[in-house]
Amino acid sequence: MQFNVSELLKEHVGATREFDIDDDVTIDGKPRHLTGHARFDRTNDGILVRADVRGAVAAECARCLRPLELPVEITFEEEFIPTVDIVSGGHVDAPEGEEENYRISARHMLDLMQPVAEYWSIAQPMAPVCRDDCPGLCPICGGDLNDAGHACTREAGDDRWAKLRNLELG
Ligand SMILES: [Zn+2]
Ligand SMILES: [Zn+2]
Repeated sequence: MQFNVSELLKEHVGATREFDIDDDVTIDGKPRHLTGHARFDRTNDGILVRADVRGAVAAECARCLRPLELPVEITFEEEFIPTVDIVSGGHVDAPEGEEENYRISARHMLDLMQPVAEYWSIAQPMAPVCRDDCPGLCPICGGDLNDAGHACTREAGDDRWAKLRNLELG
């Protein structure tokens, strides 16, 4: 997801480019297919990127442990600062207060993967569920309560506790 922005850098403040995103990329060592949209606006200091990116991750339900494919959507707005002046070819320092900004490479390539990977990592749901009312696993037999055939009955558990109680009494 690299974009050559040399032409945009030569344009006036407010000039814009729009891109559709439809890329196979690697995030944290895993292949992902990402789709979305990005808009680049020329600013005084560089290029403001507004991006909306969608993909999916494999996960498991926090309650019943079934495998899930979770949609992930990230939206961000970040200004990229050049490292080399497009006109003079001289080195560009980040303006004060923008030292933490993303940078455009010396070859005027703007790489969206850096913010995408960072926003992606914080967009992961902490405890995903397969559905909001997933009943999870049976506390007695450990079976999946989503299964229509889950045949565990209270008696089975009660029997077991009864036996334990008998042992204690005996
Ligand atoms: Zn579940
Ligand atoms: Zn059960």
